[in-house]
Amino acid sequence: MNLTSSPAPAALAPPAAAKKPLPKSPAQKAMEKLGLRRDIDLALHLPLRYEDETRIVRLADARDGEVVQIEGRVVHSEIMIRARRQLLVTVDDGSDTCLLRFLNFYPSHQKTLSVGAQVRVRGELRGGFLGREMMHPHFKLAAGDLPAGLTPVYPTSGGLPQVYLRKAVLSGLARADLNETIPPQFLSQNMLQRIYSLREALQFLHHPTPDTALQTLEDRSHPAWQRLKAEELLAQQISQLQARRVRAAMRAPALNGPAMRGTHCTLQEQLLERLPFRLTGAQQRVGDEIAADLKKNVPMHRLLQGDVGSGKTVVAALAAARCIDAGWQCALMAPTEILADQHFRKLLSWLEPLGITTAWLTGSQKPKERRQMLALVESGEAGLVIGTHAVIQDKVVFRNLALAIIDEQHRFGVAQRLALRSKMTEGGEEPHLLMMTATPIPRTLAMSYYADLDVSTLDELPPGRTAIVTKVVNDARRDEVISRIRAQIAEGRQIYWVCPLIEESESIDLVNATQTHQALSEALPDVMVGLLHSRMPVAEKKAVMSLFAEGVMAVLVSTTVIEVGVDVPNASLMVIEHAERFGLSQLHQLRGRVGRGAAASACVLLYSTGDAPRLGEVARARLKAMVETNDGFEIARRDLEIRGPGEVLGARQSGAALLRFADLQTDTALLAWAREAAPLMLDRYPELAERHVLRWLGGKAEFLKA
Ligand code: ADP
Ligand code: MG
Repeated sequence: MNLTSSPAPAALAPPAAAKKPLPKSPAQKAMEKLGLRRDIDLALHLPLRYEDETRIVRLADARDGEVVQIEGRVVHSEIMIRARRQLLVTVDDGSDTCLLRFLNFYPSHQKTLSVGAQVRVRGELRGGFLGREMMHPHFKLAAGDLPAGLTPVYPTSGGLPQVYLRKAVLSGLARADLNETIPPQFLSQNMLQRIYSLREALQFLHHPTPDTALQTLEDRSHPAWQRLKAEELLAQQISQLQARRVRAAMRAPALNGPAMRGTHCTLQEQLLERLPFRLTGAQQRVGDEIAADLKKNVPMHRLLQGDVGSGKTVVAALAAARCIDAGWQCALMAPTEILADQHFRKLLSWLEPLGITTAWLTGSQKPKERRQMLALVESGEAGLVIGTHAVIQDKVVFRNLALAIIDEQHRFGVAQRLALRSKMTEGGEEPHLLMMTATPIPRTLAMSYYADLDVSTLDELPPGRTAIVTKVVNDARRDEVISRIRAQIAEGRQIYWVCPLIEESESIDLVNATQTHQALSEALPDVMVGLLHSRMPVAEKKAVMSLFAEGVMAVLVSTTVIEVGVDVPNASLMVIEHAERFGLSQLHQLRGRVGRGAAASACVLLYSTGDAPRLGEVARARLKAMVETNDGFEIARRDLEIRGPGEVLGARQSGAALLRFADLQTDTALLAWAREAAPLMLDRYPELAERHVLRWLGGKAEFLKA
């Protein structure tokens, strides 16, 4: 059986089929979803856990609570209809009997488990009302020898059966090229000096001998696991280093002072003078770091991370001013239209008086306006271009783009980041890239995932901010929250009320927001209560946002469209409904919409337990973290603890969940080894390094470099 998706041999395929690929079977699709395309992918698809089918245990010797395999004869079988229909089968192994209970079953179950059949049954033994029993055990007719090794259980998807996967992995393992790519002297240190070659490690992990301590397999401390984790980390480090070197060899325009010298001060200086505030120390430092990068003729690749409200926008504006001053164009891309619009207004107010023309690009734009904007961009008249994804569309041609800024970069995919960079390929040059995020990446992650990224951090909030007080309140006490809103309004403050996010259904979100809007409008008859959601026409959204920004509207009920970046300093109360449904970083982002002015701000997390007596553990941990800290870095750390690194980075950020085996938190020694070995591999054994990366990352390596 050919389990990989290699195409049919050309000679056999009819001409039509050569053009149209054969339709994929569900199993093939499931395999692809698991990333199992090549033989090596199959070989590297390692078991989640193992089942011990090597032994038969006598019932008389087995303890309750143990997972065991027994073998015996079916002595009784019946379908019983009590509370619900169930299949009850009694097996006798000579030492004792055991009841097998199936709440879900097919006729085939009954057939295999008919009276007289000799069967092997595997499951957890429990003491039940009718004697010992197993619920939904695995079973098969007793035939043939017991397996010599532990039975692997693989990660699967889309109902792909284990039997199928096992066969596929076995043949992949047999066919794959498993020759060593790591020179032996690299392995001669520390824990890697154990005798496992890659081939041996893989063969062992797929089919460990029954005497292996399962614990060392489960916690992945076994030397075979260490070997694989080291391999994986090395691949990741090499690929990051390659990317870094490729970038170092690229050229970017050095943005060195004003194009037209003469008059007086630079655009940056003029902008600084016009700002209504002084930069914080952190803003100054980060600004200098960016300026130093922009002066070089190597493309900048910098992540600016700063908690919500730390003032990233002005740092971006200063970088833009430097770029434009040097005679080049700058693009600023934001993930939502509301945010892009807000940036546009703010930067326009700062930069227009300095004589800078700013163009505006968005998907919802009228064709005529769009044509005008495109012309401004192409002619170079617009020094700054602000917009949504529209900025990276094919039609947009820059005259001389030198700096690309991506706000809330975690909301963009890797492909979009690449697209923005490719907007400038003139003379083989690349633009400088500044990415901004309020979702900080914990340091260990930043170091290992982004070896190719320089990180600047705004670790100081502008002065005069008061900490946001966060309270967790049961939904049953909504009325008290509304009284609180009245008091805030009386003081001239504004309020956000964010409605739940229900992933599967945007329409339920909407109903919720609409109902809340109505209820609040009735409860607060004297003030304007607005509604904002993603299904509204863009013009209407903008109108609502500006009423709120101008202070005309007191309360804004919204779905999560306001999640990122929105800045209305007079808003001092944030109510989040069904807070238990939001992720931690999202809650923090939402909360960051308040506490932006001098007034004391608060965040109320309304929760509801639904039918359950209390909240689930994970939801509780999230709400607790929100109450305990306002610090985005601490939030990120807790998020990492609650969810694990793969999820924090997410497929979007990393191109794919890249580390399958190693754990950056615990495998620090291996990580240190890989960081040291990677440059040596690349310098001394470039071909092996290349093969190593290809083996481990396959087609994903390109994504890593974005
Ligand atoms: P974020 O980092 O979340 O994008 P913003 O750039 O939106 O934050 O800034 C938040 C608010 O703080 C804005 O109203 C901005 O004008 C203001 N701000 C930024 N820097 C300073 C500063 N140094 N002093 C006072 N206010 C500042
Ligand atoms: Mg922002």
